[in-house]
Amino acid sequence: MTTPNPTGIHRVMHEIKRRRLDVLRVTDLTPRMRRITVGGPELAGFVSLGADDHIKLFFAENAEQQAALETMKFGGDSDGPKPAMRDYTPRRYDAALGELDIDFVLHGDGPASTWAEQAAPGQYLYAGGPRGSMIVPDMFDSYLLIGDETALPAIARRLEELPANRQVLALIEVANAAEQQTLHSAATVEVQWLHREAGQDLLSAVKGITLPSGSLYTWIATESATSRRIRRVLLDDFGVNEDFLKAAGYWRLDSATED
Ligand SMILES: Cc1cc2nc3c(=O)[nH]c(=O)nc-3n(C[C@H](O)[C@H](O)[C@H](O)COP(=O)(O)OP(=O)(O)OC[C@H]3O[C@@H](n4cnc5c(N)ncnc54)[C@H](O)[C@@H]3O)c2cc1C
Repeated sequence: MTTPNPTGIHRVMHEIKRRRLDVLRVTDLTPRMRRITVGGPELAGFVSLGADDHIKLFFAENAEQQAALETMKFGGDSDGPKPAMRDYTPRRYDAALGELDIDFVLHGDGPASTWAEQAAPGQYLYAGGPRGSMIVPDMFDSYLLIGDETALPAIARRLEELPANRQVLALIEVANAAEQQTLHSAATVEVQWLHREAGQDLLSAVKGITLPSGSLYTWIATESATSRRIRRVLLDDFGVNEDFLKAAGYWRLDSATED
């Protein structure tokens, strides 16, 4: 099913399926970013059409939740045990090889990060979705991509999908230089890496940018309150077209104040 939109950006919905996936490989991309490659028979038929698609991953925090995961009887409106559910980006899906890469930020807390810290081949990962894909047609001259390390999988995917003769300015905040990844694209890409440990941050950096020229698509994904602030700066101070801007909160700082 497709939901039409006059801008050409549209959502394609997918049949939701829960899967028990086998952990095939664990690869450390950087000290704080771990790639977990999953596969197995239940990956068959997986679909991910949009660079910023997300899947739901389920994590058991006690034996009752683990039992619910094993039987996939959980969630919905039922009173049954509800395993923790977290959103992750399908970084790379290879249908021929039967492999899906998911890149986890090891931020040190929470069921998803804790699971990724100890993940090893032979274990299972329970996943659902993607429920839908936001399709951004190749109709822009340039792209402004802004995010922290949780957004890196989606930014990297978008860069890999863009054709030549497109301009990209990417602002990416990571802890330090060791967290930078090599990004590939046919487009002309300028990446500004911001190092949190050196006091650099996305919001300050955004205020100093020159927008790429031509028709622009803007995408923001980082901590929720920061994402909202960056969105406001781009709309109010830079006059970015709201129709072609997507701002998402990818995680929530516990102490973050709403504004
Ligand atoms: C659409 C979408 C796609 C996403 N894709 C990815 C992805 O591909 N890879 C990825 O790593 N993350 C991704 N995220 C972010 C991820 O879902 C969150 O970081 C999530 O909170 C992690 O769950 P957790 O169980 O590890 O921690 P939680 O239980 O949610 O949080 C525990 C504590 O850790 C803090 N915390 C959570 N995330 C971070 C962080 N990144 N940095 C610092 N502190 C944090 C919280 O404030 C809280 O104090 C995505 C989020 C969305 C909405």
